[in-house]
Amino acid sequence: DLTDPVLASEAELAFEGALRPRSLSEFVGQTRVRGQLQLLLTAATIQQRTPDHILLAGPPGLGKTTLAMIVAHESGRPLRMSSGPAIQHAGDLAAILSSLVPGEVLFIDEIHRMARSAEEMLYLAMEDFRIDIMVGKGAGATSVPLDLSPFTLVGATTRAGLLPNPLRDRFGFTAHLEFYDDAELAQVLARAATLLGLDIDRDAIVEISGRCRGTPRIANRLLRRVRDYALVHTGRADLATVNAALDLYDVDALGLDRLDRAVMQIILTRFGGGPVGLNTLAVSVGEESETIEAVVEPFLVRIGLITRTPRGRVATSAAWRHFGLSHGDTALP
Ligand code: ADP
Repeated sequence: DLTDPVLASEAELAFEGALRPRSLSEFVGQTRVRGQLQLLLTAATIQQRTPDHILLAGPPGLGKTTLAMIVAHESGRPLRMSSGPAIQHAGDLAAILSSLVPGEVLFIDEIHRMARSAEEMLYLAMEDFRIDIMVGKGAGATSVPLDLSPFTLVGATTRAGLLPNPLRDRFGFTAHLEFYDDAELAQVLARAATLLGLDIDRDAIVEISGRCRGTPRIANRLLRRVRDYALVHTGRADLATVNAALDLYDVDALGLDRLDRAVMQIILTRFGGGPVGLNTLAVSVGEESETIEAVVEPFLVRIGLITRTPRGRVATSAAWRHFGLSHGDTALP
């Protein structure tokens, strides 16, 4: 699946790695967040201490992992990478925390999916650079305090709302990443094309930037498909090549992919425009409700195809227009 970060192949991951900006100045867009991070890092350098813990929130593919790497790189510290799903017991976290070198940056992706017991251990670690380790079992069990090296935690989440308050409160700074606008995406694409040595027309870049769901990861993936198409069929990366390649991969004029369209299909044709509850939507398209809420919905809301109401998701008049449908129709064109 072209748009699904979870299903990314090894080759796609290597490709992403090659295109990752290495410094804040190379990082396109998110001007506010960049300024905030810069200040935080500089202040820490002046005071010769580890930077505050940082929470990065926003949909997949907007640059959270990239920013974590940049934080480590710009502050000249080593980086350890882990993820919520990999931390299923407090012991998993204890092993990581106790092996950090002084000043290390610890990145935990999908931090909202970490085990509850680990979460509680993390509170103390973030606040006092200390954990309590349970030794022994039953009546003889005792807790042994263990001092940790000072570290900076960079947490990433697609759902800041899912984090318990005590965890959220322990981050010195929370950055909410926004979808990128077309001009920023054009910059991301131009940069990637240069790195790939791909000679691409300006109007071809503009076309891709309008069809990548406001997301740099998708922009780069689409660029790769365009490069393939040029290589195999047309011999050049022009507008016609972009249109042909994106049609082949089912990316429509607004950048909606298969899952976006499946969701719109349910709301528009099965529920007459809504309201439809999140769980009903998720079950109908066979996806987890978290994916719908964190990945699909923010984009559909952003481009004005649906609104959220207390009773559920409702299609806007723009949605009916985009699909050329009216009430009573039973399928998307
Ligand atoms: P996330 O961790 O939020 O899912 P990543 O940091 O892995 O997203 O970014 C995905 C890809 O998109 C990276 O390979 C990177 O090349 C590209 N990317 C993300 N943000 C930017 C940006 N601001 N400027 C340039 N490229 C970016």
